[in-house]
Amino acid sequence: MPNPSSRIAGLTPGGDDGWGLFYRARALKAAGEPVLELTIGEHDIRTDPAILDAMHASAKGGHTGYAAIPGKPALRRAVAERLSASSGVAHGIENVLITPGGQAALFAAHHAACDDGDVALLIDPHYATYPGTIRGVGALPRPVAARPEDGFQPREADLMAAGDGARSLLINSPNNPTGAVYSDETLQAIARVAEARDLWVISDEVYDTQVWEGRHQPFAGLPGMFGRTLTVGSLSKSYAMTGSRLGWVAGPAAIIGHLSNLATHTTYGVPGFIQDAGLFALQQGPVAEAAIAAPFLRRRDIFLEALAKQQYLRATPPAGAMYVMLDVRATGLSGTAFGEALLDEENVAVMPGESFGAAAAGHIRVALTLPDEMFAEALERLFAFAARAVDARTTA
Ligand code: PLP
Repeated sequence: MPNPSSRIAGLTPGGDDGWGLFYRARALKAAGEPVLELTIGEHDIRTDPAILDAMHASAKGGHTGYAAIPGKPALRRAVAERLSASSGVAHGIENVLITPGGQAALFAAHHAACDDGDVALLIDPHYATYPGTIRGVGALPRPVAARPEDGFQPREADLMAAGDGARSLLINSPNNPTGAVYSDETLQAIARVAEARDLWVISDEVYDTQVWEGRHQPFAGLPGMFGRTLTVGSLSKSYAMTGSRLGWVAGPAAIIGHLSNLATHTTYGVPGFIQDAGLFALQQGPVAEAAIAAPFLRRRDIFLEALAKQQYLRATPPAGAMYVMLDVRATGLSGTAFGEALLDEENVAVMPGESFGAAAAGHIRVALTLPDEMFAEALERLFAFAARAVDARTTA
């Protein structure tokens, strides 16, 4: 076999890029083990049958051929209207490209922003795919640490220093994995850095419907930022449509034109019946979005109650998204060692903090994705395990 390109072979130089524990949990489950899984960002409900009906009707109605590559105009319009309303900046269909999920939008946005060898900033901790996405377009990921003691809000001085010579900055609020929702001060600091360092800002807002404290401020809505912002969105989290692979990238019309050209040469668009289902979903509006988000707020509170009853582990209460970052350093274990042992001893699977970057070392990410009772049971086991680990450490 000829050698694969160094770009593809080097996508995840660490091997599994932190997914090892997740794969082990899935293998155990497949072998019949009753693993309680708090790993990936997947709802415990399925897509609303009414959305599936719309998908079915569209397919039966003949929308099974190639669909318009930048996206069907009606869906692009609906996304543009949603973004106009949330950001306060008028978006038209020329500002929106429909993509197969937010992940493809992240890849496309970095393609648009970065040339080969350019430095692309990301905030650490970060969603696990970010560095590989950046490497995939030939750019160099440069992490900027956000500290637990700052509630995982990045500091302006750190961004300004890292931004010297960089081309883009990837932000994500509400944040996976930390649950941070960036404050107005943080967003304004990012805007100052973007201007001073002449950066593209790629703003991943796929959790915009999951906000528990404060409010979601679309980055493109900050004064002067629309022209340098590529906003990534998706129906995966907001409408429990992870498997439908439907998202978008929004930004200045000229760049959306280039991205449409990229889509012609990569994905060739998104199936029309999926887009029609997405349009139907968006037409259900904020009430439907709030109903999908509600279980995560409930479980966040179940989590905080359980956390308050024990004395070893700490967490910053998440202001948004469907995860909690739990500081397990009191056990003396790394996030990975904690996660491995928790799976072995308690059949509970979480994601090690280390999967999300160096700044999340000594943490685990707990996804709020099991039905309430099972979730409470998993937490009981998790905190009992942590207490044993601390005891073993202090008696050693
Ligand atoms: N961005 C973040 C922060 C995520 O957590 C995820 C999925 O978990 C994605 C993007 C990708 O979402 P999609 O299913 O829309 O590709």
